[in-house]
Amino acid sequence: MSEILVLVEQVDGEVKKVTLELLTLARSLGTPAAVWAGPGITPDAKAKLAEYGAEKIYVAPSSDIVEYVVAPKAELLAQLVAGKSPSAVLVAATPEGKEIAGRLAIKTDSGVITDAVGLGEGFVADQSIFGGGINVQSKVRKGTPIVAVRPNSTAPAPAAGAGTEEEISVALSDAAKAARVVERVKQEKGARPELTEAAIVVSGGRGVGSAENFSIIENLADALGAAVGASRAATDAGWYPHQFQVGQTGKTVSPQLYIAAGISGAIQHRAGMQTAKTIVAINKDPEAPIFELADYGVVGDLHQVVPQLTEEVKKRK
Ligand SMILES: Cc1cc2nc3c(=O)[nH]c(=O)nc-3n(C[C@H](O)[C@H](O)[C@H](O)COP(=O)(O)OP(=O)(O)OC[C@H]3O[C@@H](n4cnc5c(N)ncnc54)[C@H](O)[C@@H]3O)c2cc1C
Repeated sequence: MSEILVLVEQVDGEVKKVTLELLTLARSLGTPAAVWAGPGITPDAKAKLAEYGAEKIYVAPSSDIVEYVVAPKAELLAQLVAGKSPSAVLVAATPEGKEIAGRLAIKTDSGVITDAVGLGEGFVADQSIFGGGINVQSKVRKGTPIVAVRPNSTAPAPAAGAGTEEEISVALSDAAKAARVVERVKQEKGARPELTEAAIVVSGGRGVGSAENFSIIENLADALGAAVGASRAATDAGWYPHQFQVGQTGKTVSPQLYIAAGISGAIQHRAGMQTAKTIVAINKDPEAPIFELADYGVVGDLHQVVPQLTEEVKKRK
């Protein structure tokens, strides 16, 4: 089977979960080959990539790749596409991943699909479009399929690959060096997982009632090891920071479990969460539209239901 390139997402040498998901997906469609862009690969990282099925690990250790914004990674992948003729290239559907995918598509004269939530035989991708109102299946018809897959679309499953390393030297064009990274500021990492990558998200809406009350949502999230999200009503009210807004004008999440507490389920909110595998809604209004979407619903006051749920979760630990 021919290779499927998977661009590795990593922070300080630690492979991110989305890469393990992409390797798992690639394994079901071909032979996964991880692409490490830049310096800093560690024995642990190599072992992790092999553990999740990477038969090959292409390592391009040039620091130029990370010194300049986005373009070098697209050139590296274009070079690999030309040299290795993979059957597809998978990247994470992060803002950077999607930009790389677009640039790579131009360079290789290929079709590109972004925000896939599934990928099957023949590289047919599942997408949720028009604000989540319609599910479609799409297929690249030209060149090498380039697919940006949303985090949490696949459950990562280990299955050892050979992890054979091959060093790649990449000759960057001047155009790829147009924008240099001048400073990197490390974002203080909270104890919670990143919202768009979290396997579980607990979100609060207007029903939470105040900024102080968001501690109810945070407590449940912490008991579950989840990220916290919020509706726009809650962020516009200043109860929770805008960066945690889920929806059409906020973040798109696709977790295994999404718990919506005090959220009505407006179309703009759904657009950001309806590809979650399991949706639980807690709302005091039995007619709330969120119940049309929910797999499980609790009709009740979240101020009573959520603390009880938190206690139950804690008891099981
Ligand atoms: C262009 C545009 C873009 C938008 N983008 C987004 C977006 O990205 N994300 C987003 O979320 N919204 C977005 N919106 C806003 C969206 O239309 C809704 O207004 C918003 O999602 C409502 O938030 P909410 O569900 O928290 O509040 P509401 O609609 O007011 O719902 C609150 C819910 O809480 C329930 N409730 C109240 N008290 C309790 C309680 N004690 N216990 C349990 N339940 C309770 C109520 O029954 C109700 O169902 C956008 C709107 C526009 C026009």
